[in-house]
Amino acid sequence: MKADLVLLHPPSIFDFRERPILWGPINDLVPSTPVFEMYPLGFVSIASTLEQHGYRVRIVNIALKMLRDPGFNPAEYLSRMQAEAFGIDLHWLPHVHGAINLARVCKEVHPEVPVIFGGLSSSYFHRELLSEVPQVDYVLRGDSTEVPFVKLMEVIEGRGDAEEVPNLSYREGDRLRVNPLSHVPESIDCFNLDYEYIFRSFVRSKNLDMLPFLDFIEHPIMAVLTRKGCECNCTACGGSSYAYARICNRHGVAFRSPEKVVEDILAVQEFQVPAFILGDLAIGGERYGRRILEMLRRERVDIPLIFEAFLPFSRGFMREISRSVDDFTIEMSPDSGVEEVRRKIGRNYSNAALRDMLEKAFSCGCRQFDLYFSVGLGGQSEESIHATLKLAEQLMEEHRGRRLLPFISPYAPFLDPGSIAYEHPERCGFVKFAESMMDHYRILDTGVSWKDFLSYRTTHLSREDIVRLSYQAALRLAELKAEAGIIDLDSLEEIRHRIEVSQDMIRVVEAHRRGECSEVKMRESLMELRERVMIDRRELDWSKGLKFRRIVALLRKLITA
Ligand code: SF4
Repeated sequence: MKADLVLLHPPSIFDFRERPILWGPINDLVPSTPVFEMYPLGFVSIASTLEQHGYRVRIVNIALKMLRDPGFNPAEYLSRMQAEAFGIDLHWLPHVHGAINLARVCKEVHPEVPVIFGGLSSSYFHRELLSEVPQVDYVLRGDSTEVPFVKLMEVIEGRGDAEEVPNLSYREGDRLRVNPLSHVPESIDCFNLDYEYIFRSFVRSKNLDMLPFLDFIEHPIMAVLTRKGCECNCTACGGSSYAYARICNRHGVAFRSPEKVVEDILAVQEFQVPAFILGDLAIGGERYGRRILEMLRRERVDIPLIFEAFLPFSRGFMREISRSVDDFTIEMSPDSGVEEVRRKIGRNYSNAALRDMLEKAFSCGCRQFDLYFSVGLGGQSEESIHATLKLAEQLMEEHRGRRLLPFISPYAPFLDPGSIAYEHPERCGFVKFAESMMDHYRILDTGVSWKDFLSYRTTHLSREDIVRLSYQAALRLAELKAEAGIIDLDSLEEIRHRIEVSQDMIRVVEAHRRGECSEVKMRESLMELRERVMIDRRELDWSKGLKFRRIVALLRKLITA
């Protein structure tokens, strides 16, 4: 296996197959498993850009391979590879354990091959990465590393000087060198998101190394990028305007042009899978979104589209969506049903505005509306979680017979580095248990249950409270959904059973910690729970009904490949 660059995606915890771990519900609302095997979209844009410059690039989803094959040995596999460089993503901080250990394996089997890190967490912790992890040679910082990557590959081939590579941090002898973070493109039209890359790689290699996540074949979905950066400043978000300025030197949102966005959606349509449009199309002025919708209308797009709404849409914009797209879902995260808590976390809209948004959406033909609520927000109390459930109940009642799907889950395992809450936890209602990158590494290295993995508590809720209330709230919400006919009684029983087992597991882990339960017994108990804990997986499947069309589309592609 020969390539110039091999991009490797690590699991969140590298030795997850050997250790007893109670993952809990931390992945319930994302397509991947708790190992977080979904690699960042940046892999595809980096691979496409480097291929345009004549480099052979391979994406290998190591996390996925470890999940699919219990006998898969990353060291043995990587030792058979011939590469000029390895690239590892450390974008989302919960990958810190997997990413660092994967770098160690790369160096163990190929000591001479450089290891490059990238992603938002790498950018934030670039100095610590280079000083604490000798296996990491380079860190490419920022949100757009396609062009710097081409320049770095030239340096690795001996055709350039590391000092000239923008956004690069590296070691020179004992010294740490940090080049200016100067490559911050104002538009993101400069690269192509080559959706066929995965398909071509499959045809070429005849394996599924580069699948984005385990469930992709059964429940596929593809993301369409509209921007980098965000206009908003939600306090705990590492993708906020505040965090982008700190980490990526980005002081304004970089948009993908409406033409390119529509081109991307049409490329996704070729595969007949749903497209998730990343970024609120109406925020910061509706002109941009309206232009995209107008073009979609002309193109008669026929796949399900999922839109994000950071703030409620205007009636006019909602009508525009309904005129342009037949099958659409809206996702919104009010996070709390209590306006004061919502405002504190940076979402400034009332429950009346939320109600108005729901009414507009359903009257305009929205197929499904997903509402996300969280447990473990800054400023949240037990009472405010009960109030949130009350609001969810009322909304389901007001929209009986419509597909309004509220979800509730723990906020996140870690506070996002670079977010306002990370920098000023006390101001935002949090108490942090981890500061440095290696603190987070150790949490994942030594923890057993998802309670151990929480890197924070809130001023009102301990980690125990967050766990207890997450289970309670999820069960209550499942009961409300069953009453409203959104899920059937079998699904409710299944969720109830999984929550009970998961709560038992927490008790087993605590008993083991007190020396009252053996390691073997704990291990056996933890194996019982592998499925998502708090939701019925089918609720988040937007690809229903597309299976036959998708098979035909893929066959057509295979014939023409
Ligand atoms: S959570 Fe808030 S700040 Fe973060 S991307 Fe969404 S709207 Fe922007």
